[in-house]
Amino acid sequence: MQSVIRWGIIAALSALLAFTAIAVIDPTILGKFYLRSGDVYVFDGVAGPAHDSVIPVPQITHWEEFSSGETSRLAILLTDPDSAWLSLAHGLKSVGIPFVITDDPQRALQHQVVMAYPRISGRVLAAGSLQALGAHVRNGGTLIGVNVLGGGLQKVFGFDDVRATREHTVVRFDPEHALAADFTTPEEREIRIATATHREKTIGAHEYLGTRNPALATYANGAAAVTWREYSGGHAYALGFDPGLLLQKAHGYRLEGVAPAYVNVFEPSLDVILRLIRNFYRRGEPGAVTLQPVPWNKSLSVNVTHDIDYNESLANSVEYARMERELGVTATYFIQTKYVRDWNDEIFFNDRSVDHLNSLSELGMEIASHSVSHSKVFSRFPLGTGRERYPEYVPYVYEERSTYDGTVMGELRVSKFLLDHFSDGEPVVSFRAGYLEYPFSLAQALDATGFAYDSTITANNVLSHLPYRLNHERGGDAQVDVWEFPVTIEDERPPALPDRLDQAIDVARKIARYGGNFVLLIHPNVTGEKLEFQRALISELKSIAWFGSISEFGKWWQARDSVAIDSWLDQRTLRVRVHAPMIISGLTLEIPAGFELVLPQHDAIASVQAERVVLQEFDGQIELVFRKIR
Ligand SMILES: [Zn+2]
Repeated sequence: MQSVIRWGIIAALSALLAFTAIAVIDPTILGKFYLRSGDVYVFDGVAGPAHDSVIPVPQITHWEEFSSGETSRLAILLTDPDSAWLSLAHGLKSVGIPFVITDDPQRALQHQVVMAYPRISGRVLAAGSLQALGAHVRNGGTLIGVNVLGGGLQKVFGFDDVRATREHTVVRFDPEHALAADFTTPEEREIRIATATHREKTIGAHEYLGTRNPALATYANGAAAVTWREYSGGHAYALGFDPGLLLQKAHGYRLEGVAPAYVNVFEPSLDVILRLIRNFYRRGEPGAVTLQPVPWNKSLSVNVTHDIDYNESLANSVEYARMERELGVTATYFIQTKYVRDWNDEIFFNDRSVDHLNSLSELGMEIASHSVSHSKVFSRFPLGTGRERYPEYVPYVYEERSTYDGTVMGELRVSKFLLDHFSDGEPVVSFRAGYLEYPFSLAQALDATGFAYDSTITANNVLSHLPYRLNHERGGDAQVDVWEFPVTIEDERPPALPDRLDQAIDVARKIARYGGNFVLLIHPNVTGEKLEFQRALISELKSIAWFGSISEFGKWWQARDSVAIDSWLDQRTLRVRVHAPMIISGLTLEIPAGFELVLPQHDAIASVQAERVVLQEFDGQIELVFRKIR
């Protein structure tokens, strides 16, 4: 309130000055009445960045970009391009399913496994195409129908009728069904898709009525949410909710509150849906090869991260980094470039502290940005001009809910410039906002200012433990070159950190069952018991997990996202082609059961274990040949 009054006075004064035509007083200087001498730390001779950032305009992503690939892949038969297909595509990439998108039913039906998306009805598919989809399952193919609303295919899927509703908030899986057998925890058996308390956080869903078989999954009222029907070799599944729309909403941080807790617990709702689609695919395509989400065939990826947003933290960081170095772990240090003294805190980014940056770099740690102002209203900042520069850029936190002169571009550009300037390591590419503040413009602003990886959202708010690619404006039609790595465990919520070591380990082990990502956030405001918690957690997970910084894992994940997998099964021989446009090491393939690697027997292969093949560092193309042994 106080700031409103002050601004009112300024506005009145400005108007008065303009009226009296005293043009020499710059209203922006007048606006900085709150600054006292010494409130801005000016490094001698440091100014920048020299270049401007271009304010991003959305580049609409076309589904045709995902249309090439062989018939071994999952075919998405797109029945309405005005749908959440892009988020579905991002989810399929995250879980590692190779796919193509086509709007041509004839082309889709060349694939063994076809997913008709976002709906099947007589309006979106011609009669001949509907008949051909029915014939596909009778001839041994797999058809996954999303929102099967009509078109006469009810009998093919094994139900009589369909009812639209917005009332459902959970989906329950039948643990007796083979395709849901790996959903063993309560959080996997009952997943969350909406909340009843917010209208905008509900999702249009369909109940299938008069089902021939017990449902694979039901809503809370017992109505069928996912149906199944078997043919000789063929399978038909109907989903009553739109997995792409759910992914789009959750990835866009629009389903906050759907999970009962926002952080620190296991919340796999989206991952269960993606794993279900993977189960459909692997069952229906005998040559299915999918990509594991963790490097080097480990069960879990772990990113140890720190937020430096307090004046003692930078010095403490070096102690954390030494311990991490000793344990062979590279961590990420999100550092607030705090050169403005304000309501939040003293200045702690100055000549005395910047030496610590090089200590962290020398210990192999990643230097990343935690913004300039660490404002609680960052998500309401204007985008800015892309011309913000140090030291003129002075975002000032006046009080908890009021910050002057902050912009999204300024927070990103200026913090990156200073961190790049004062550390001699790799360029800064990772960002985390304070207080989980997530402006709508964040993804495109990160892209425009040279960042590629973000770790601001919590895994529980996003209903997933898998990283994913971001879209412009938290929307669904324009992807950007930025990936999100949601925070799993933080250190500030009660109970105190040392009392929840077992809980954190338990969450990690549950995520490890399907190769998810575990991001640990520790504030190095103190050492002592937090340091010991971290040591114990790392030691416990060391044998099952791959550890790396956000940028290390981000680069790997980005490279994995671009990998193309195709296969050809001929009698007893399975040929697999792996194409990696970006260099990647430790890529792990999951191959069908009962095959043995014949070729190549050379240095492209790191190891072969049961149904997993681990590849050495490579880029370009590798061909693998397997022989069926049973
Ligand atoms: Zn912070």
